[in-house]
Amino acid sequence: MDTPEDTIQTTAVRAEREPVNLLGLTLTGLEEYFRVIGERPFRAVQLLKWIHQQRITDFSAMTNLSRELRARLAAEAVVRLPEIVSTQKSTDGTIKWLVRVAADNCIEMVFIPDARRGTLCISSQVGCALNCTFCFTARQGFNRNLSSAEIIAQVWLARTLLENDSADRRVITNVVLMGMGEPLLNFENVVDALELMLEDNAHGFARRRVTLSTAGVVPKIDALRQRCRVSLAVSLHAPNDRLRDQLVPLNKRYPIRELLAACRRYVEDDARAKVTFEYVLLAGVNDSRQHARELAALLADLPAKVNLIPFNPFPNSGYQCPPAPVIDDFREVLMARRIMTITRKTRGGDIDAACGQLAGEVQARSRRVRLRNANRLATPGRTTVTLPPEQLQS
Ligand code: SF4
Repeated sequence: MDTPEDTIQTTAVRAEREPVNLLGLTLTGLEEYFRVIGERPFRAVQLLKWIHQQRITDFSAMTNLSRELRARLAAEAVVRLPEIVSTQKSTDGTIKWLVRVAADNCIEMVFIPDARRGTLCISSQVGCALNCTFCFTARQGFNRNLSSAEIIAQVWLARTLLENDSADRRVITNVVLMGMGEPLLNFENVVDALELMLEDNAHGFARRRVTLSTAGVVPKIDALRQRCRVSLAVSLHAPNDRLRDQLVPLNKRYPIRELLAACRRYVEDDARAKVTFEYVLLAGVNDSRQHARELAALLADLPAKVNLIPFNPFPNSGYQCPPAPVIDDFREVLMARRIMTITRKTRGGDIDAACGQLAGEVQARSRRVRLRNANRLATPGRTTVTLPPEQLQS
């Protein structure tokens, strides 16, 4: 059995081998780091500004730190970012980046510019385990949670790449956690990354400009309210439990009544706040006038707005997008009942960057999903990874 000395030695050796990645540390985390190494905590603000505002990763360039501290950081710490594997630009200006977070795993992030805004959609997990039936990410399976560094790195990388794009410099005005994964199932890492997005000495976004989208992990909605209240979006997609159980299996655990109660609590003491409800319209499944009436009744006493998302097809999805008149009809029923509703324009469809189409490259943990993915037909324009047999062993 290891003695305490052994443990300390092992930890010291590991620390020697694995420098601490400071990219994902919040202000509090960095203050603690400096306390532990015998430095004064105000260094944390200096470092946050270098890393997230100046976007400098080389400690030797951080000129307001002493020479000794720079040398020590260079020896014991790093600011390490994931690698951009590919960039695709849509004819409508949308940009999708494939980001490698480990040898076999990539996630996707998307920048969607419009006249007034530049929205960055980022991922929180490698794949997703929630299996919503209309979502391409779900088909890839699930590998792991992203670290806080890997989440905030997406904001860091996109800001840097957009600022350096001399042909088309764009500013990110909004960040949405609507990419791959269920953010509330990666709670601590997501909250740390959110804090860095909001922190004045880091990225400095206003709370209302950062939106977390959840399929409805009810206890964590309450926890988020306590820890870091950003704007909330809920992937609803059905107006009753019978249908939602089929489309969003998480509903069996947290049914609509409990989910809406949590949404009410989330905004109850903020007169200006609204919860956004996302509703993917699937032809013949959830798109009738009766569904719209049910949805309006459900949201009648909530400060809510609805985003209608015409389904973005992917191979073998089994679903279709409703015709335009059906979508307009659905919206009119909601509007007539005073529910603020917008129909989201499909953006980046030509590069598979539209809502529900993100896929990345996920080395799924489940053998069944790995087999299915390995045998999946290549989608035009995407890389398909064929797994060697030894990687298909459970
Ligand atoms: S819609 Fe969101 S929660 Fe559902 S499977 Fe896709 S990524 Fe996961």
